[in-house]
Amino acid sequence: MKVLKFGGTSVGTPQRMKDVAKLINDGEKKIVVLSAMSGTTNTLVEISDYFYKKNVDGANEIINQLANKYRKHVEELYATDEFKTLTKDFLREKFEYLHAFSKDMFTLYEERMVLAQGEILSTNMVTNYLKEQGVNVVLLDALEFMRTDKNSEPDPVYIRKHLKEQIEANPNADIYITQGFICRNAYGEIDNLQRGGSDYTASLIGAAILADEIQIWTDIDGMHNNDPRFVDHTEPVRQLHFEEAAELAYFGAKILHPTCVQPAKYAGIPVRLKNTMDPQAPGTTISNETEHGKIKAVAAKDNITAIKIKSSRMLLAHGFLRKVFEIFEQYQTSIDMISTSEVGVSMSIDNTKHLNDILNELKKYGTVTVDNDMCIICVVGDLTWDNVGFETLATEAMKNIPVRMISYGGSNYNISFLVKGEDKTRALQALTDTLFKK
Ligand code: ASP
Ligand code: MG
Repeated sequence: MKVLKFGGTSVGTPQRMKDVAKLINDGEKKIVVLSAMSGTTNTLVEISDYFYKKNVDGANEIINQLANKYRKHVEELYATDEFKTLTKDFLREKFEYLHAFSKDMFTLYEERMVLAQGEILSTNMVTNYLKEQGVNVVLLDALEFMRTDKNSEPDPVYIRKHLKEQIEANPNADIYITQGFICRNAYGEIDNLQRGGSDYTASLIGAAILADEIQIWTDIDGMHNNDPRFVDHTEPVRQLHFEEAAELAYFGAKILHPTCVQPAKYAGIPVRLKNTMDPQAPGTTISNETEHGKIKAVAAKDNITAIKIKSSRMLLAHGFLRKVFEIFEQYQTSIDMISTSEVGVSMSIDNTKHLNDILNELKKYGTVTVDNDMCIICVVGDLTWDNVGFETLATEAMKNIPVRMISYGGSNYNISFLVKGEDKTRALQALTDTLFKK
């Protein structure tokens, strides 16, 4: 069985819900995970904020606005009075439930109950629509099987057992719909998997049922081999290793968060990114397979600061790197690239909040130089060290661009260059021209 997840914009309007319904109704048995309609979770956060501030009128006003919006969706979504009435009754009950929070204390516990409503609304609406269309659909309540433990980590054993029970109780359904994002915690309270957590839900469900594939549907094309905003002739990447995807995630690639795909990665289940606007396109599959000898993609990250510390005392001394790293640790600043020589070390950071403090401390140990407005250019692919020629190819592409640092060998999947921000586009284009030329 496959697991398909649709994000907020994919179910963001009644028309989009109809499109999703059509897409999933292909005769194949599947589990479908839905987010809240886009904007709803943010509105629920706003409502909670009013409740926290004890501004009941403010909260009620926003709840009423939201209720009106949903009531309009009902008119557009359903064709029959039967389903219009059924859904309106359901919505009335849910919005009354939200209003009722004005009567009591409002804490984190209540807020989580409020935040859970977005996915409860969207999944009920789509399920009712599918029923109206005569589809054999069952809504599985995520609060019955999705659970976190005392460390707020998902509890795979609980999830597997209870999800299985739910599915076995409805063996003949063609489509199982369920809520992304929401869960219960170790104390049985309503909780969630953090904002954007629906991908995590899909990945956890996929791992629990050992799905054939997990599909994450959004409204963008999967991954491209370079950034189409800066580079001509980019192409979709068909396949990525989980590690390659994780490297690219740091560069803001519109790709899954690495923690969200972990359950799928460990269970060996491929995750495929698909585009609801172009459903026939193959998308990008992320799996545990390495395509040998292939460079997959290039990505860049701006606003990087490079710091070099040079010290002749470092020559043949030990403990120098520890002292340097401790300073970054003390100021909770993570180092992204690093490159060492016998007398110095260069590092890059993207968070400059504590830069001055860090520099002051570093100066105790050597001469410090800083370069601002730098950019990391990362080449991702099969860069296992005993392959020959690939790092040469990448450096060859960069031959006309001043390179401040190179990092290679930290993983089997990347080589990174630190260049001036102003050279970014040139570097990206040069890499595309060299690495992906046909
Ligand atoms: N609805 C939740 C959010 O907006 C979860 C999700 O969409 O993944 O964060
Ligand atoms: Mg980092």
